[in-house]
Amino acid sequence: MKLIICNKEYIIDDNKIKRDSLLSILTYIKTKLDNTLSFRSGCRSGVCGSCAIRVNGVEKLACKTHLEDGDIVEPLKNTTIIKDLVVDISSQALCIKKAKANLEEKSNQTITSLDQKNIDLQSNCILCNSCYSSCPVFEVNKDFIGPFALTRAYRYVNDKKEDNTQTKIDAVQKDGIWDCTLCGNCNMVCPERIDIKNDIMMLRNKSAQMGYSDPNIGSFDGGFNTNMDFGFNPNGF
Ligand code: SF4
Ligand code: SF4
Repeated sequence: MKLIICNKEYIIDDNKIKRDSLLSILTYIKTKLDNTLSFRSGCRSGVCGSCAIRVNGVEKLACKTHLEDGDIVEPLKNTTIIKDLVVDISSQALCIKKAKANLEEKSNQTITSLDQKNIDLQSNCILCNSCYSSCPVFEVNKDFIGPFALTRAYRYVNDKKEDNTQTKIDAVQKDGIWDCTLCGNCNMVCPERIDIKNDIMMLRNKSAQMGYSDPNIGSFDGGFNTNMDFGFNPNGF
């Protein structure tokens, strides 16, 4: 069977393609067919997130993916390619820093197992970068804080160990929660099944409770100002 990896064609035994993960096939190509092929991998069991790539345009973990004849394997999008399937992931730290997605002021509250459970899912992020690769907003605005940093910000806003949620809510306003189109691409590619879109909506709710509003929506005075142009007369005359 034929595979296209970074625009190069490789012929691989049918049984191998059916049996082995993409990561095993990449390792086979590297050791037996083409030692110039570069890719990243770590745990080989879906825990470290380092082998994220795209298959036929969709973000996947190579260690958890099986291929079919003619599949096209490419590096993640919206980043700089270092070589072949290896991309620059140095912007991760910057996005997390911009979102202030870390513990800043430790509270003295008692933490129950239920409190911990509330932030479990977001804590499962393996920093694979698949969500950034799939995000149409990050594609056009590299200042966008982006999916995993926002979901991580929500994790710390909900973390009872954190005493300063206000700075986190402040931090996600510019190039953050209101810029997201809620398209859900990030949810669809997240190997940890984190509901990133919902976390962003929850951050919007928290922001509204703290007095912020969507800067993309103009002010609305409840219909009392009849000079506003609604395209029709709301009072019927
Ligand atoms: S839902 Fe928002 S953060 Fe997720 S991919 Fe779409 S625009 Fe990006
Ligand atoms: S949120 Fe999901 S897709 Fe994004 S980096 Fe974390 S694990 Fe990967």
